[in-house]
Amino acid sequence: SSKTAPFRARAEIDLAALRANVRALRARTPGAALMAVVKADAYGHGAVPCARAALEAGARWLGTATPEEALALREAGLPGRLMCWLWTPGGPWRQAIEADVDVSVSGLWALAEVREAAAAVGAPARVHLKADTGLGRGGCQPDDWPELVAEALRAQADGLLTVVGLWSHFACADEPGHPSIQAQLTRFREMVAYAEAQGVQPEVRHIANSPAALTLPEAHFDLVRTGIAMYGISPSPDLGTPADLGLRPVMALKASLALVKQVPGGHGISYGHLYTTPGTTTLGLVPVGYGDGIPRHASGAGPVLVDGKPRTVAGRIAMDQFVVDLGGDEPAPGAEAVLFGSGDHGEPTAEDWAQAAGTIAYEIVTRIGTRIPRVYV
Ligand code: PLP
Repeated sequence: SSKTAPFRARAEIDLAALRANVRALRARTPGAALMAVVKADAYGHGAVPCARAALEAGARWLGTATPEEALALREAGLPGRLMCWLWTPGGPWRQAIEADVDVSVSGLWALAEVREAAAAVGAPARVHLKADTGLGRGGCQPDDWPELVAEALRAQADGLLTVVGLWSHFACADEPGHPSIQAQLTRFREMVAYAEAQGVQPEVRHIANSPAALTLPEAHFDLVRTGIAMYGISPSPDLGTPADLGLRPVMALKASLALVKQVPGGHGISYGHLYTTPGTTTLGLVPVGYGDGIPRHASGAGPVLVDGKPRTVAGRIAMDQFVVDLGGDEPAPGAEAVLFGSGDHGEPTAEDWAQAAGTIAYEIVTRIGTRIPRVYV
């Protein structure tokens, strides 16, 4: 019997799974608080509902990349500690201070803007000084650290800010044993020790992302910042499956077949005719494409469970649709096509799509577009 559903496509978000993942991560990181990383619309899962669920399950902090994301969470009424880290000159520092949003500072330009904003608001900013311990991206270089620390302490003495955090980010935590991991930890301890010797009394020291939270207890410090694991996705195939890690996938992406039709053998399929039907067969039209964030690189490779059977994308993924060869089966129009989900019922996972597209599962879920409604189940 065909399962049919009255929607083109939707992303089902299992908030009970998210809460269970937060609890599992908390159990694996005793002694550290947990920051739920909900940037990029909670990796495509919906920032506000996911932030709320994470707090319910014991996350004490929320984290975003941009200040706009953080302010939107406050506007939605999210309480608790909230930090954002990706600032550009002229950013909304005043609004952040007024909304009780912690900010990250990596360099002197940002410190100057924080001071000015705090003076205008008449309240101190809560600042996390970010060290580049080896990622080679954001953060303060070790050579520049003494000056940043000194300037921050001066501003703190002036009542313009409180240095509440010292923090950094890993480059290769998803590759257990990579030599850069211990090198970054050593550098982090040194930079923290230096700042503390100068008089910084951080409330939280933090460097761990999901892979470090899962595999590296010595990196937990006071706070772990978990994103991908909270969404029930393994940070890397090297760390095992979500089940191996005690995690449950949160997002399931489903669509309804828009058309089922018979075609003769030798029929070229979709743009470029990359696939040709081997004989008379049935085609199913799946009404999602790269305009919905389905990676075109998975053309000819992406796995789909159609009407309960494992199938593969036939030919190119187009902007709004792609085709699967149903091999003579004739499900009704509207039959369910599951692109990915928990994997518990034979459906592919986001990790499977990542492999088919030559990318990481982070990108698969994060890119699911706004044309796909999120439904909280
Ligand atoms: N911390 C920072 C600064 C990040 O940019 C991210 C996301 O990339 C995270 C933590 C969370 O990483 P993950 O999703 O691997 O847990």
